[in-house]
Amino acid sequence: MKLIRFGELGNESPGLQLDDGRVVDTSSVVNDYNEEFFGSDGLKKLQEWASANANDAETISADHRIGSPIARPSKMICIGLNFSDHAAETGAETPKEPVIFSKATSALSGPFDNIIIPKGSEQTDWEVELAIVIGNRASYVSESEAEDYIAGYVLHNDVSERSFQKDRGGQWTKGKSSDTFAPMGPFMATKDEIPNTDNLAMWLTVNGEKMQDGNTANLIFNVPHVVSYLSNFMSLLPGDVISTGTPAGVGMGMNPERYLKPGDVVELGIDGLGSSRQNVVAYSN
Ligand code: ZN
Repeated sequence: MKLIRFGELGNESPGLQLDDGRVVDTSSVVNDYNEEFFGSDGLKKLQEWASANANDAETISADHRIGSPIARPSKMICIGLNFSDHAAETGAETPKEPVIFSKATSALSGPFDNIIIPKGSEQTDWEVELAIVIGNRASYVSESEAEDYIAGYVLHNDVSERSFQKDRGGQWTKGKSSDTFAPMGPFMATKDEIPNTDNLAMWLTVNGEKMQDGNTANLIFNVPHVVSYLSNFMSLLPGDVISTGTPAGVGMGMNPERYLKPGDVVELGIDGLGSSRQNVVAYSN
């Protein structure tokens, strides 16, 4: 299934994108795609409803805004430097254990919403990433059982402000958490739709120019490893998002460095997870 949320920011309704591209409203069977939904076998109930009813359900018109396919989660954890080519372009060593940081959940936005360059920013950058959505509370799970704790996968642009991230003291959270810094979607694909997370092409363009051209085959720490690893340090709750890291080709790694400016258009995609597009705008009150 492809879970989608539509409607105005902060007031989205749940839906499903069908194989023929139509989006149907599921708000008669589901409140929202949130912790309660994932934690109470909501996907199973939704699948049962969809098998019987989706083809005849009310279709949503194409002019609706598409929101993040999951409601604001209890946390978003990102893996840093998880591709050796990206670690090299930033001048960092290949990590021996996953580098992790958190991203404020208030950064979440829709896949076609604007990216707002924050106040005082000169180094807003892009990062195409495969993100995992947790399906069941995960604490001390092994790699071999990690998949049992996954609901699905979603396309994520881990937008980053490099000066906030690196030059302002402490760890990376400051550079990852501005409003609109987590465009998510267009849909969450349930895990059955992505049987192999170790071979997914991923790409990102700015103004049509290819910047990132990677594949999850080159992840240093793959999906089961990351879920298992994180569950040793915190309980992962249903609906939580883990973003697995970006390949080479970010603006910080270029010579000269290149950052987003108002008017730029960022597009990105991953095999099986669709594509998204964000216009870049300046902050205004
Ligand atoms: Zn990232």
